[in-house]
Amino acid sequence: MNAQRLSERLTRVASFIEKGSIVADIGSDHAYLPCYLVHQQIAEKAIAGEVAKGPYESARNQVRAEQLQEQITVRFANGLQAIEKEDSVDTVTIAGMGGPLIASILDQDIDRLITVDRLILQPNIHAKAIREWAILNEWKLIAEEILQEDDKIYEILVLERGKMSLTAAQLLLGPFLMEDRNDAFRKKWEKESAEWERILEAIRVAELSKDVQMKKDEIEEKLKIVKEALSA
Ligand code: SAM
Repeated sequence: MNAQRLSERLTRVASFIEKGSIVADIGSDHAYLPCYLVHQQIAEKAIAGEVAKGPYESARNQVRAEQLQEQITVRFANGLQAIEKEDSVDTVTIAGMGGPLIASILDQDIDRLITVDRLILQPNIHAKAIREWAILNEWKLIAEEILQEDDKIYEILVLERGKMSLTAAQLLLGPFLMEDRNDAFRKKWEKESAEWERILEAIRVAELSKDVQMKKDEIEEKLKIVKEALSA
C-alpha cells in the first residue's frame, strides 16, 4: 500500500468522502489516506493527526516526499485535538482501530467536531460501540459497508448529524449491513457465532459466578440475534 495505491479498505473509506471536502484523518500513520485524497482531488485540504512519534514522523516524511505540504498539515496530537476551528474541517476519518477506541476519541474532544458534518469510521472490531456513541450524541448512520481484504473483515460506518434509534439487532449487526447480508457479513457473524458457541460449551460444565452468568446471558442474546439474521 502507498498513497497512489491504497488498500481496498482505505479506498472504500475514501469513496464516502465528497469532492472538495476538508478532511481530518485521525490516527493517520503514514498519511496515505490524506495524500491519496489530495492527489485524486477528492479533498481540497487535509489534516493528518497522529499521537505516536514514529507514525507522526512517517506521515510528515510522506507528505514532504509527495510535496503536499501546501494542502496537508501533519499534527502531533491526541485524537480530535489535531483539529483547530480555523481548519474548517467538514469530514473526519478514523480507520484501523477498535470501535471502543474510535468512540472514546470522538467523545474526548467532541467540541472539536463543531464544523464537521460527516464522520467516516472504520472499526476493525466492536462497531457496536460506535453505533451506541452515535445515538447518544445525535449522529445518524447514512451508509455502512462490510468487506473482506486478505483474511480480515472490516466495517465502515458513515455518519451525519441527526437522531436515530436502533433495535438491539441493528446495534450489533448494523442496520444497512443486516439488510444486505453480503458474504463478508455472513462470514464474520458465522465466525463470531462459532466462537461464542465454543465459550458457552466451555462454561456449560463450570460453576457459574454472577459475572460469568451475565456474560453467558449476553452471549446467548447475541447468538439469538445473529442466528435470526443469518437465517432470514
Ligand atoms: N488509519 C491508518 C489505517 O487505517 O491504515 C492507520 C491505522 S493504525 C493501525 C492506528 C494509528 O492510530 C496508529 O498510528 C496510532 O498511533 C494512531 N492512534 C491511536 N490512537 C490515537 C489517538 N488517540 N490520536 C491519534 N492517533 C492515534
